[in-house]
Amino acid sequence: MSIVTVERKILQKNDEVAQKNRLNFQKLGLHTINILGSPGSGKTTFLEKLILQTNNLFKTAVIEGDLQTDLDAQRISALQIPVVQLVTNGACHLEAQLVQDGFNQLDVSDAKLLIIENVGNLVCPAGFDLGEDQKMVVLSVTEGEEKPLKYPKIFQNASVLIINKIDLLPYVKCDLNTMIVNAKSINPKLIIFAVSSTTGEGFDAVIQWLKEFTLTS
Ligand code: MG
Ligand code: ZN
Repeated sequence: MSIVTVERKILQKNDEVAQKNRLNFQKLGLHTINILGSPGSGKTTFLEKLILQTNNLFKTAVIEGDLQTDLDAQRISALQIPVVQLVTNGACHLEAQLVQDGFNQLDVSDAKLLIIENVGNLVCPAGFDLGEDQKMVVLSVTEGEEKPLKYPKIFQNASVLIINKIDLLPYVKCDLNTMIVNAKSINPKLIIFAVSSTTGEGFDAVIQWLKEFTLTS
């Protein structure tokens, strides 16, 4: 048996579990977002800010994925939000089965939004469906404007791009417009928001967009 066949089998099995997850999330009225991005792009800080600003509108539940530690889950838990930490013990992406196991321990009663924060990695998480409705990439301006060109697959598979840390634009060599043009050249359908999770700039538009999914079901 070749390595290619083994990998295909793993992906096929993953897709089957992901489809089960998707049906389960839909049945419970949850809109589900899989957050992807490099380590340090600010995924957890973005999530904290988002929760603080939407707490009064709808309830969010969170699944945190990390190689090690439950530090990120502790940060989310401090906001009085149901959260479960998945530790992959070195695996560089989440798989649908692990998400299912974690989800079974999560209290999602009354929740409208389920957020899965993937392991920080711009490569292989793009290939693993977890059962989410949408993939969201968080990209920091400190990562440079060529990132979408260098890691196209994750931007192709995503429907939303959050350009984060725009408060740092005066200090880094990154042209916001070029970053947007590069991302659109990879995926013209990408919905793009530019935000600062530190100052809160740009969050109104993100929340406006999220209300479409969370307040209608
Ligand atoms: Mg994190
Ligand atoms: Zn991986």
